[in-house]
Amino acid sequence: MSNTLNENASITSSSILSLGIESTAHTFGVGIVNDGGKVLSNIRYVYRSRTGIHPREASRFMSRHAVEALSEALSQASLSLKDLSIISFSRGPGLGPCLRTGATFARFLSSYLKKPLVGVNHCVAHIEIGRMLTGARDPVILYLSGGSTQVISYLEGVYRIFGETEDIAIGNFIDTFARSAGLSFPGGPIVEELARKGRNLIDLPYVVKGMNVSFSGLLTYLESLIGKYPIEDLCYSLQETAFSMLVEVCERAMAYLKKDELLLVGGVGVNTRLREMCRKMCEERGASFYVPPAEFCVDNGAMIAWNGILHYTKGDILPVSQSHILTKWRVEDVSVKWWEG
Ligand code: AMP
Ligand code: MG
Repeated sequence: MSNTLNENASITSSSILSLGIESTAHTFGVGIVNDGGKVLSNIRYVYRSRTGIHPREASRFMSRHAVEALSEALSQASLSLKDLSIISFSRGPGLGPCLRTGATFARFLSSYLKKPLVGVNHCVAHIEIGRMLTGARDPVILYLSGGSTQVISYLEGVYRIFGETEDIAIGNFIDTFARSAGLSFPGGPIVEELARKGRNLIDLPYVVKGMNVSFSGLLTYLESLIGKYPIEDLCYSLQETAFSMLVEVCERAMAYLKKDELLLVGGVGVNTRLREMCRKMCEERGASFYVPPAEFCVDNGAMIAWNGILHYTKGDILPVSQSHILTKWRVEDVSVKWWEG
């Protein structure tokens, strides 16, 4: 659960109040945002398990906490249900049982309150809250989370993927290594902490193929080194190698697309060393680097609420009868009607 809100939003009064429900993987989030971009509340309940995400267990966790999260979000915003204008929910991509829990809750609220329902793409929501909070206009976006590793940018009406992982996502890679090394889940923050004490850079496979990256060979090799080198040096070398690969493909995308902004989003974007490497690359190119506060890098309801407003103002309302979830919804399939680059 989290309480830090963006106090910097310029507009505080508004006519549209959007409730956003996030439930794609481990986080049940409920946020309330107005059409001036003010985040009025952002409540998160995070399912944790030592052995990764079990979709059915995670969805049960979400059902248990849904009402609690909603009432905390309303009270944090000093609002009641009848004040809400629209109900936005994360429609995909994500884990079926988790998405269904959030969607069912959203459909119920929309029907009961007689308020429009808006279906939001989780990945587009990460990008749009990042743009709104940082002021990035037309960036290359590095989207890094437990299940995603993509280099994205806007072109002709949609966000397009210019580079991605050919196998496992960066967050999954770090978490799997951490588990093999006996560290707890999620491994990202622990690996970051240990990496700070690492001193020796171990030579590891560096796999960049054009605009794509690959982590599975690096993972296997790192796992074979556990116990042979200090864990601090392994974590340090993991971060230096994997993050360099990602920064390299971003730099290439910025050069090809002639864009001078980089926006980092997703849970792995919390990492201080990664932020430092992105910032340095941008400085060297005369470009600007943007990353939202940690609370908005991780999965959260506020980003769904904000993207719901962007859709709603362009007339995108989803009838309850057609509001099935889309577990594999690709970012290119969303028409970005609100774009003003
Ligand atoms: P998300 O899927 O966007 O919620 O992000 C979750 C992923 O972010 C997990 O794989 C975590 O291990 C990873 N993560 C969280 N904090 C950090 C960190 N400080 N450094 C690297 N990865 C992190
Ligand atoms: Mg996410």
